[in-house]
Amino acid sequence: MIEARLGVTTCDKCQEPMTKGQPVLMIAEGNIAESDDNLTLRGSCVRYACHLSCWDGIEDIELSDATLKS
Ligand SMILES: [Zn+2]
Repeated sequence: MIEARLGVTTCDKCQEPMTKGQPVLMIAEGNIAESDDNLTLRGSCVRYACHLSCWDGIEDIELSDATLKS
């Protein structure tokens, strides 16, 4: 289970608030803390968050970090 806390509570796509109980999608940045049969991610920040119903593909995302762009 992953728990994340965001300072921004609005959807990056529709700008509406993301509230309790809503299915959402988040793209998190972090480091692999352990790698055996499973990968354990130690997250440092959330790059993108939107309602699951708003998600329409990765090409939608504009990451600020140039090294992550294709
Ligand atoms: Zn939305």
